[in-house]
Amino acid sequence: MTSTNDASINSTPASGATSYVLVLNCGSSSLKFAVIDASTGEQPLSGMAERLGSDDAEIVFKQNGAKQTQALTPHTHKSALQALVTYLLGYPALVQSLTAIGHRVVHGGEHFREAILIDSLSQQRIADCSNLAPLHNPANLLGIEAAQEAFPQLPQVAVFDTAFHQQMPDYAYLYPLPYEYYRDLGVRRYGFHGTSCRYVTAEAARLLNKPAAELKLIIAHLGNGASLTAVKHGHSVDTTMGLTPLEGVVHGTRCGSIDPGIIAYLAHRLNKSTDEIDAILWKKSGLLGLSGLSNDCRTIEEAAANGHEQAQLTLEIYAYRLAKAVGELMIPLGRLDALVFTGGIGENSSLIRARTLDWLGFLGLQLDSEANEQCIRGKAGKISQNGHAAAWVIPTNEELMIARDSVALAAAAQGEQA
Ligand code: AMP
Repeated sequence: MTSTNDASINSTPASGATSYVLVLNCGSSSLKFAVIDASTGEQPLSGMAERLGSDDAEIVFKQNGAKQTQALTPHTHKSALQALVTYLLGYPALVQSLTAIGHRVVHGGEHFREAILIDSLSQQRIADCSNLAPLHNPANLLGIEAAQEAFPQLPQVAVFDTAFHQQMPDYAYLYPLPYEYYRDLGVRRYGFHGTSCRYVTAEAARLLNKPAAELKLIIAHLGNGASLTAVKHGHSVDTTMGLTPLEGVVHGTRCGSIDPGIIAYLAHRLNKSTDEIDAILWKKSGLLGLSGLSNDCRTIEEAAANGHEQAQLTLEIYAYRLAKAVGELMIPLGRLDALVFTGGIGENSSLIRARTLDWLGFLGLQLDSEANEQCIRGKAGKISQNGHAAAWVIPTNEELMIARDSVALAAAAQGEQA
C-alpha cells in the first residue's frame, strides 16, 4: 500500500477542462466518496469503504458501471483513504481535473452557519465540536487530515449537516432544562440532514416555480435516520432532530422521541447502565425494535403485505408519528406550500407516503394515487391532487450540494488570491 505521502498529488486542472470535486463522507465505520462534476452532477467515480474497524473491512470502487472490491488492511479510515488515493493515481486526467475536496462534517455546533474553506483554526473548531458528535466529527477530521496530506494543493471545504438549522429561533432550539446546560455545555436542538434540506429546498423552488424565499415547506427526509424540517424564507425554522440525531420521528434503529423517564425506568428494571440503555435506543429501537424483523422498510412492508401483524402496526406507528410531526411543524409555518418526501424511504415507499397523507386531509392534502406509485427510484413529482397545499417527492443529492459549495468557495478563494 502506498502511504499518503507517497501518493501526494499535485493537481492543477487544465483550463477549460471539466472540473470535478472529490466529495468525502467519513462516517464512524464507513467512508463514502464520489468524484462529481458540480455543474452536471455526473459522477465518473464513486464508492464506499465499509466495516472500518472490523476484520472484514473493504472498499468498493464504482466506475463506468463496473465494480472493484479490495480488502483493507489495516482496517482504518486512513487505509481506506490511502486505497482511494492510490486508485485515483491510476487516473491522472481525473486527478488533474479536481478543483477541490468537499467534506461532509456532521456537527458544526453553533459556530458554523454555512460551508467554509478549511484552515487550521476551523479544523480546531471542528475538533471542538467532537463532544457533540463523538462518533462522527473525529472520523470527519481523519478524512480532512488524510485528504490534506494527499492533495496539499487543493482547497478543502467543510459542509455541515447542522448549518442549515442555525437560524432557528431560540424558542425552537432550547430545551426546558436548567439554562446553564445550554450556556455551559451547548445542550440545545441543532438539527441534522441540513445539506439534504438545502438541496431539496432549491429543487422545490425550481419545480414549484417560486423563489425559495417565498416558499413554506416541510421536508421529510426519511432514510435510515429520519427527520422533518420546517423551511420558511429559505431556511430552517424548526426540525425534529435535536442535540443528537436520536430525537424526532421513528428511525431505522433509533427510537425517536420517547418519554425521557423511560431511560431511568429501563436502567432500573433491566439493571443496565445508562450507556447500555443508550445503545438500545440508538441501535435496537425504531423500525427494527418495533417490528422485531428489520430496520429496512422494504422488509417490513413485505411482511405486512403477508399478514405479519407487528409489521403492520410498525408501519402504522411510523406514518402516524410522521403526520404528527407535520402537524407540529405547521405551527411556525402557518401555511404550507409543499410537504416534500425525500431519502431512501421518502423517495421509494409509496405506501408510507400514502399512509402519512391519510392523516393530513385537514391540511388540504389529497393523495394522487397514480402519481404516488410512479414517483419511485429517483423520479421527482407531485403526488397530491390540486389544492392549496401539495405533496411532492424530490430525490435528494447531498453529494452534489457539497460539490457545489466546494466549487463556489474554491472559486471565491482563488478570486481573493488573484
Ligand atoms: P437512506 O438512509 O436514505 O439511504 O435510506 C435507506 C432506507 O431506505 C433503507 O433502509 C430502506 O428502509 C429504505 N428504502 C429503500 N428503498 C425502499 C423501497 N423501495 N421501499 C421502502 N423503503 C425503501
